Amino acid sequence: MISKDEIDEVLRSYDKGKISIGTLGSHSALNIFKGAQEEGFRTVCICRKGDEIVYQRFPVADDILVVEGFRDLLNDDVQEKLRRLNTILVPHGSFTAYISTGDLMNELRLPLFGNRQLLLWEADREKQREWLGRAGLNLPKIFKDPEDIEGLVIVKFPGAKGGRGYFLASSPQSFHQKARDMVEKGLLKEEDLARIHLQEYFVGVNVYPLYFRSLVVGEVELLGIDRRYESAIDGIGRIPAREQLEVGLNPTYTVVGNIPLTVRESLLSEILRMGDSVVKVSEEIAPPGIIGPFCLETVVTDALRIVTFEISARIVAGANVGIGISPYSYLKHGEKMYMGKRIAREIRAGIEGDNLEKIVS
Ligand code: AMP
Ligand code: AMP
Repeated sequence: MISKDEIDEVLRSYDKGKISIGTLGSHSALNIFKGAQEEGFRTVCICRKGDEIVYQRFPVADDILVVEGFRDLLNDDVQEKLRRLNTILVPHGSFTAYISTGDLMNELRLPLFGNRQLLLWEADREKQREWLGRAGLNLPKIFKDPEDIEGLVIVKFPGAKGGRGYFLASSPQSFHQKARDMVEKGLLKEEDLARIHLQEYFVGVNVYPLYFRSLVVGEVELLGIDRRYESAIDGIGRIPAREQLEVGLNPTYTVVGNIPLTVRESLLSEILRMGDSVVKVSEEIAPPGIIGPFCLETVVTDALRIVTFEISARIVAGANVGIGISPYSYLKHGEKMYMGKRIAREIRAGIEGDNLEKIVS
């Protein structure tokens, strides 16, 4: 594992007047680049061949490094180029989706904005659960064995796959039948079945609060809320029940996009306190705790109970709904604040306060 000392050494070699902000060209890269440019940084996009059009049409990347695949970020020559550009990387969902968390820990000799240790906690469902449980959040029940299934459960698979391949089951029998079905349809591989995670399913609506924990200001800010737009589950309601039954529809949860949301104001006190307690526990499990953006993935039931089923300890793509405008960012910071810009502002404060090493790892 690359030590914090090694990263600090790289940082010391940087020209602080010429820091650039880099990330993989996907997920929330436009958000991160736009914010960085608005705060006066140079931006560098590690871009897969074929995706250049995105970062050319939206002119937010000053440098575009074309690679065959995102894993090439680990190549020595790519890392060396980035170090020469004095790059601080901002990790997002594609880092863990395309490069394993282990490889990020062991091979990426570049300063990452945020706390690397927490990416490990995020990648491990048991550790996540321990973290959220200690923070006192309402969590769904877990079933260790498909034979124990009782009531509605959602069947999940490892890694940030954006809900691809998830399905619902309500008994051991329906689990086995649907699992077979998903494998036959090619939505799942046989070996995935050995790594399933069975979680109590809550009927309600998705609410994803987007937080930013500032070490500089010493506060957890709520910068936005979104909900996901998922295929096919969000389209199923457009088909009458009879046709759903006729074709044996099995809901899936592939994320396609995000929709901005404001919530009942009376829910905000709990949402704010949840962010605070998650940060407090993060200080204990991986000091100095969360640095920068994080998101709680919740379902709010009709009894207005907020149940958290996941945490992302980094920027989430849902923050893209706030680019340029988000009601909660506006309330906190005035006009034109959003996650990418908030990140860049924190890095700017780190440079000006000469304590950049506190916010990277
Ligand atoms: P992509 O670069 O689009 O392949 O996404 C990288 C990872 O982030 C995948 O695991 C996606 O499922 C996830 N992801 C991408 N976009 C979104 C989004 N808008 N909301 C939630 N997750 C996303
Ligand atoms: P995840 O990959 O864990 O973020 O889950 C993908 C999607 O599945 C979410 O956006 C929700 O729509 C749904 N989901 C996941 N877990 C639950 C749960 N315990 N109860 C209800 N819906 C869930």
